[in-house]
Amino acid sequence: MRQSLIMGNWKMNGTRESSQSLCAAIMAGLNENDKNIVICVPAVYLADLQTLTSNSPLALGAQNVANQEAGAYTGEVSATMLKEFNCQYALVGHSERRTYYGDTDESVAERFCQAQKQGVIPVLCIGETLAERENGETFNVVNTQLDAVIAKAGIGAFANAVIAYEPVWAIGTGRTATDEQAQEVHKAIRERVALQDPVIAENLQILYGGSMKADNAKGLLAMPDIDGGLIGGASLDAQSFLKIYHSI
Ligand code: PEP
Repeated sequence: MRQSLIMGNWKMNGTRESSQSLCAAIMAGLNENDKNIVICVPAVYLADLQTLTSNSPLALGAQNVANQEAGAYTGEVSATMLKEFNCQYALVGHSERRTYYGDTDESVAERFCQAQKQGVIPVLCIGETLAERENGETFNVVNTQLDAVIAKAGIGAFANAVIAYEPVWAIGTGRTATDEQAQEVHKAIRERVALQDPVIAENLQILYGGSMKADNAKGLLAMPDIDGGLIGGASLDAQSFLKIYHSI
């Protein structure tokens, strides 16, 4: 039985002070039996938030991870570094990384492997643009992004990884995929993994991301192949984020 997982992606928002207040407000809405709730925060705030969350069910994640282990890679943050701050998850291949910073299927696969090597669970983000959807390319695009990581990491790596299906046209736009549109792609992703390993596919958490809010979360999260959410905008408001979490 798959457990649900709710992850917030704060992106490049907040200040040192506001990140601590937001984190504290989220923790205040959780009780000690809660689990499977994560915030992916700007790397510079990890140290503060590690201290703040040390006795809390709220887990920490990073928004990216370097595709190399260590060395002359200016500006990058390695998986070993993330691990030092008790980062349990790292997003890889978020569409904003792919669009603005040139992350390719190949470098995303390397990032995925680096995270896993250090015991940080990679959250592989995949999804099509609006033009690709309108051209009927959704499944091809998602399969290509997924296959690149399977080719490098091996299917066994997905026993300890998460996939986030995030249609690019739904991220930050207020335009959410319908429950059925999302379910159709989630099911196809699971079936693709199942071609190589049905047990891994059955246990794989596949999250939906793209304008998930308190008022549309329930329907999306009720779909059989949607195991949780990756939430951007709505995760910057503690009450909205908690509402999504509690709608599981
Ligand atoms: C995201 O950044 O992964 C995301 C899904 O953003 P939003 O919820 O704002 O669409």
